[in-house]
Amino acid sequence: MMKYEWEHKSITHKIKRDGKGVCYFFPSDLAELTLMPYPESWEELAVQQTLQSANIRLRPENQGWYQFVPCRYDEEEGIVYISEENFNQYWKKIRYKLMEYYLGKKRVRTIMNEELDSQVCLDAFWTQTSEARIMDAKIVIFSRLPEEERLRLMSKRASIMDNRKILYVFNQNGGPVHDKTCELVKSISLEDFCGAEEMPEGRGFCAKCRRRLHIRLAIGPDFKNCQIYESFLQRCGVSEMELEYFVRECGGKMFMESLQVMRLKCGEDTWKAERKEDGLLVLYHNNYIRIGEDERFITDGFHEQNVCAKKLNRILRYVEDYTWKGHLEAKKSAEDNNLTEDAVLQEEGYVPENGVVQEDSQEYGCIGDSMVKSEAWWKRLAAWLKKWFI
Ligand SMILES: [Zn+2]
Repeated sequence: MMKYEWEHKSITHKIKRDGKGVCYFFPSDLAELTLMPYPESWEELAVQQTLQSANIRLRPENQGWYQFVPCRYDEEEGIVYISEENFNQYWKKIRYKLMEYYLGKKRVRTIMNEELDSQVCLDAFWTQTSEARIMDAKIVIFSRLPEEERLRLMSKRASIMDNRKILYVFNQNGGPVHDKTCELVKSISLEDFCGAEEMPEGRGFCAKCRRRLHIRLAIGPDFKNCQIYESFLQRCGVSEMELEYFVRECGGKMFMESLQVMRLKCGEDTWKAERKEDGLLVLYHNNYIRIGEDERFITDGFHEQNVCAKKLNRILRYVEDYTWKGHLEAKKSAEDNNLTEDAVLQEEGYVPENGVVQEDSQEYGCIGDSMVKSEAWWKRLAAWLKKWFI
């Protein structure tokens, strides 16, 4: 945590006291209090009269007793002071318990060590010549960079942040890759801050900003409207895995035409998913004219694809599976066997999510896309035909 950016948490905490009136905390209480480690030589603490003796109670795994970690408490400010030595010795355990609390009682989906580290106030270690960070659950003191060097690195960092081509930011020494908007980016030091256009090898994604990063990859220059995308994807139930597959494996792109219509680009085809008032998503496909046996020319406009779904996940899967070649093959296969689509679909046990197989639109130049549900559908069809004729 950078000095001077620290904001104390609002205190809603009720103090617990033991039989002798000494106050104590469980690690979960620190979610609402400020934990401030201090160096033994810190004079500011010695002159504070209002501090009470206290302790943090840690229960070692599978033990019926508590370990008391001494600390001091400023009730008015809600600050728990802990010596550097005790912090270095116990923070890993306290942090683990705190994490359990966030994931359990607070029902937070993900929380990372870096995030919990960033909630520790390290102001007491910042001087004109040194600064502090938490690394591997311990406080590490660094000498401060000369002003000139600091300004140079600040400008380097700013240019990385402004460069639209750079999508991934991270600590050059290791750790996860972040989206630029992730609050954990602030905790990467100027010297270690790095950016790249391509995902660096051997790194994982930050659990906190992973979804946002993939939305950034999918929407490119429209990132200023990111929140509109986030809310649409949330409402339409797109899982992280589905989004990542669409973006990373299929190179899919998204563009919001309005609050209810999302344009999807995957391969050479463009699609529109429109969210109707009843919440059902209806899919539209780009128009095209057939110009040869197996060639087509994509033209303006869209036609309804006869695919409806409650969740965008299904639509994405359909769009990912679709290929023009697959479409032709499935169409031919169905024609050769003189099967109507409905017969094939029903025999094969395939029922669209809304339970209705609709007629395709009769727009000029459009091929009846409802003949083919997807390449996956085609594979299922082929398997069914094999079973049927052999
Ligand atoms: Zn992040």
